Amino acid sequence: MSNDVAVVVEQLEGTLAEVSFEMLAKGRELATASGGRLVAVLAGHEVRPLAAELGAADAVAVIEHEALAHYTPEASERAVAEALRALEPRVALVASTSMGLDQAGGLSVALGWPLCAYCTDVRLDEGRLVAVSRIYGGKLVAEAQVDGDRAICAMLPGVAAAAAGRVSGSPALQEIAAPALDSLRVRFRRLIQPESGDVDITRESILVSVGRGIQSQDNIPVVEALAQALGGALSASRPIVDQGWLPKTRQVGKSGMSVKPKLYVAVGISGAPEHIEGMRGAELIVAINTDPNAPIFGVAHFGVVSDLFDVLPLLTEKVKSRA
Ligand SMILES: Cc1cc2nc3c(=O)[nH]c(=O)nc-3n(C[C@H](O)[C@H](O)[C@H](O)COP(=O)(O)OP(=O)(O)OC[C@H]3O[C@@H](n4cnc5c(N)ncnc54)[C@H](O)[C@@H]3O)c2cc1C
Repeated sequence: MSNDVAVVVEQLEGTLAEVSFEMLAKGRELATASGGRLVAVLAGHEVRPLAAELGAADAVAVIEHEALAHYTPEASERAVAEALRALEPRVALVASTSMGLDQAGGLSVALGWPLCAYCTDVRLDEGRLVAVSRIYGGKLVAEAQVDGDRAICAMLPGVAAAAAGRVSGSPALQEIAAPALDSLRVRFRRLIQPESGDVDITRESILVSVGRGIQSQDNIPVVEALAQALGGALSASRPIVDQGWLPKTRQVGKSGMSVKPKLYVAVGISGAPEHIEGMRGAELIVAINTDPNAPIFGVAHFGVVSDLFDVLPLLTEKVKSRA
């Protein structure tokens, strides 16, 4: 067993996922505590050049195979398991994303290492691994001490700063021979890209989000006007999207996007756990709601208990007059 910390890096069609840099930042903290190396595990086909973007790691364990040219959970899981078996790290971090969760359970079974899912924090406490998980859509926070020498932790996106893990460099390459990747039961057919053309709310620094308190699609421009005055974008809670009032690309939350803007204004949104899961990482949260007991006020830094139709036009005018 080593004291190394492994980070399973996500790449799709040769592009590294933003969340992998977050995992590297978190991995560095753990590696400092464990006294081991930080090793990025990179599986794919002709992906070695990506190692130059993984300078936050001390080494990159590269596992290459034609069958890994396009992502399939089965091939990727087998390859990553092979790399982790060779590395024997103290802890392996995967991102709690659709790709990471695809594989985390299978890796745990293949390696016989326990899996801690939905982690918001992982730390070493006098050599023991402690994982903090946000479960049941954020209703419960569980802190667990992990028995055994090794573990896999699936970290929620947004719990570490990607900037700290985005370092160019030339980490040592450690080649890992791919396992047999024939007789795969899952075959790649084609990649269907999400519809483009709309704003990417995950990249916006200011979001004004509209909820069911808006009452009708015809009222949405009231909220959009504030978003425009602030130079931000309009996002929404799920019911707004389910009604077809805004496209799915604007939905914040568990079954939508996770966002981390500098400013998040929640307008007429109650703050259900499924919504909060997607926006609690915002730097500054302002909530406007008529109900003083609305759960959104539990995460908001500033709250306005008032009718949105009274507040928003005034706020928009105020912002415009200062522009
Ligand atoms: C598996 C699953 C996944 C889900 N995924 C998501 C998700 O990704 N994103 C998401 O948002 N939800 C999601 N949900 C739904 C979630 O549980 C809530 O139903 C939803 O977030 C509620 O949306 P809301 O706050 O807009 O509406 P409501 O809960 O109806 O809240 C409306 C709020 O508006 C306030 N209000 C009313 N009138 C005014 C006014 N004039 N001025 C000011 N305030 C007013 C009310 O006081 C109330 O607090 C999911 C649910 C499940 C089960």
